[in-house]
Amino acid sequence: MHGAMHQVKVHTDHANLLFWKNPGDHNRRVVRWHSDLMDYDFQLVHISGKKNGRVDALSRCPDYDQGEDDNKQLVVLPSKFFSQVLACIAGSEEANPNNKEEWACYRDGVDPWDFQSMQDLVEKDQQENKESQERLRKWTNTHQLTKLNLIWWKDNWIVVAGDNDLKRGVIHSFHNKPSAGHLGISNTYRLARCDTWWPNMKQDIKQYVKGCATCQASKVNTGPLKPAMIPITPEHVLPFQTIAMDFITKLPKSGKYDTILTITDHDCSKAAIFIPCQEAISAEEVAKLMLKYLYPQFGVPKKIISD
Ligand SMILES: [Zn+2]
Repeated sequence: MHGAMHQVKVHTDHANLLFWKNPGDHNRRVVRWHSDLMDYDFQLVHISGKKNGRVDALSRCPDYDQGEDDNKQLVVLPSKFFSQVLACIAGSEEANPNNKEEWACYRDGVDPWDFQSMQDLVEKDQQENKESQERLRKWTNTHQLTKLNLIWWKDNWIVVAGDNDLKRGVIHSFHNKPSAGHLGISNTYRLARCDTWWPNMKQDIKQYVKGCATCQASKVNTGPLKPAMIPITPEHVLPFQTIAMDFITKLPKSGKYDTILTITDHDCSKAAIFIPCQEAISAEEVAKLMLKYLYPQFGVPKKIISD
């Protein structure tokens, strides 16, 4: 890494590193780190998240001389090492609009080319799409729209008058940002609302984000992961009196067999008997297998559970 041709990006959720952005009094160990790190060309991308345990890599070690009074007010990792691009969990609401600096990063994260082409499309639609013009006529009074340089505005926001495809395109440019991942519903709305407007905008954004495959894929399921079990309470104390039967199918062929019939003792032992068979087995043949492998040892079961 030392003298590398390219800058190295370090993605970390190590929140403590943020602390090193600010000037502070540091012990000698940190100062050594500081002078070492200055030789490297790297950028830290802070990914906030609670998933990884925090490794206190840069913190004190009691074995070292603390050197308390030297090295005051040193910035260990100047802000140039911190990427202005914030990464966040798709669909989360991690961006805090009240944090002006952080929010500015998100706004900057909208690709200017993407944004410009989106704006061009909205303007073109306003000027060329008959249906949009009809809508704009209806909205002019009800929503106090103004026309400036051939473009319709509501206050400072460009009016998106097009159909659902256009609206989806607009939402896409704010939500699917390559730099910051996928914002949640509220923050996508806030971001889109800085530049654009249309009636029922929030509802449309909600629908879009809820239907976003990337957001869905990274969604944390907070509900119960397993369905509630309805226990079958044991009534008998002998093994294989209540049995569960199932087949393990589509196995690689072994001789003439491709399936295993499993017979599990449901009550006391949970023991299982595995019997090789064929997937196309008939009920009569299953009965024959039970007669051969189950009844001689355990007798006839009182209850059979099978799907
Ligand atoms: Zn998404």
